[in-house]
Amino acid sequence: MSATYDVAIVGGGAVGSSIAYWLTRDPAWAGRVAVIERDPTYARASSALSASSIRQQFSTPLNIALSRFGIGFLRDVNAYLGVEGEPPVVLGLREPGYLFLATAAGERVLRDNHAIQRAENCAVALLDPAAVVARYPWMNLDGVVQASLGTANEGWFDGPALMQAFRRKARSQGAVYLHDEVVGIDVSASRVSTLRLRSGESVSAGVVVNAGGPWSASVAAMAGVKLPVEARRRCVFVFDCRERFEGAPLTIDSSGIWFRPEGRYWLAGAPPKPENDVDGLPLEVDHSEWDELVWPPLAARVPAFESVKVVSAWAGYYEYNTFDHNGIVGPHPTIANLIFATGFSGHGIQQSPATGRAVAELIAHGRYVSLDLAPFGFDRIAANRPVIERNII
Ligand SMILES: Cc1cc2nc3c(=O)[nH]c(=O)nc-3n(C[C@H](O)[C@H](O)[C@H](O)COP(=O)(O)OP(=O)(O)OC[C@H]3O[C@@H](n4cnc5c(N)ncnc54)[C@H](O)[C@@H]3O)c2cc1C
Repeated sequence: MSATYDVAIVGGGAVGSSIAYWLTRDPAWAGRVAVIERDPTYARASSALSASSIRQQFSTPLNIALSRFGIGFLRDVNAYLGVEGEPPVVLGLREPGYLFLATAAGERVLRDNHAIQRAENCAVALLDPAAVVARYPWMNLDGVVQASLGTANEGWFDGPALMQAFRRKARSQGAVYLHDEVVGIDVSASRVSTLRLRSGESVSAGVVVNAGGPWSASVAAMAGVKLPVEARRRCVFVFDCRERFEGAPLTIDSSGIWFRPEGRYWLAGAPPKPENDVDGLPLEVDHSEWDELVWPPLAARVPAFESVKVVSAWAGYYEYNTFDHNGIVGPHPTIANLIFATGFSGHGIQQSPATGRAVAELIAHGRYVSLDLAPFGFDRIAANRPVIERNII
């Protein structure tokens, strides 16, 4: 059987569901929207496995703008995503800020980024080590020469709850979720004509959106398109520390590790070793990362973390854009009705509200209205025009 929709979105994670939400709420849009999601439990989806944090401290004004819209959206989430007669959306948003720590080697970049952030009116403060210790006396600042703290608009929230809220609201506004997998894409006359599904059914759509997250390259490949996005595994460790520290920020240590509180526990992670930073490793926790990469700098930075206990851990995939680590958003240069919304490389859940809005505008109005995402367009890849973002975590 074949069904026809005006828009078919492949992937119903935070990004795909945000697009469905924004499209179905636009009064200028009267079309039918289908979201094709192969796993409604989202067991392996990035949106269910992220660290769900949001910051303004990027080095690219467009990334700052995307996340700035994100924080306002999260604060006011029920005005956007509340559904009458249903329980309110609870995201547990906390805003203690991100703290970036730099050694002498990283100081120049930290200061340059700070200048960009100030020019974009971000609430950021440069702190010297003494000022950091005055705020967070439980930290050991050895080796740190400069720090940058987001004093507003940065923190963390419940990412899976945001994804589910997008999905619930999109459905309440008429989006149809198909529990199926896209296994083939037919292209003719430079247009996607049909999506073939694992069930044997097919879908035709005027516009197709690839929001397949870490699997978006395989979705693109079905249409004969090479997309530089890989599924790069990242492990998150949950640990318990007897001591309590109020108001702790999400710290990006000069060693590359990050850590932040989560309820009564803490989360931490590190970029993997280069040999493990490859496409499609199994979604299993590599416990050697804790011993070799995470714990040594963690215990050096916070002496109280010398005797912590790991209580659990998980692994998820970054949808890692190997070209320039930023979102790839917009139409394919030659297959005009194939739109991409992927490649966010570790900052996609915070950018899902603004990305969904932008892609919906592109579809419903034929252009970006609120925020011009053209610099993140697919065409920059062939043109070899990377967007250099220096604050990639
Ligand atoms: C450990 C970790 C920490 C992170 N921390 C942060 C953070 O602090 N802040 C932040 O902003 N971001 C963070 N991220 C990144 C963020 O999670 C992602 O950028 C974001 O969730 C991507 O959303 P998505 O909807 O594109 O992808 P997903 O949530 O993965 O959704 C894609 C969906 O597409 C479906 N799909 C794929 N192929 C097909 C097909 N052929 N047919 C049907 N369905 C298909 C999949 O089943 C999946 O549900 C982190 C990621 C990880 C792994």
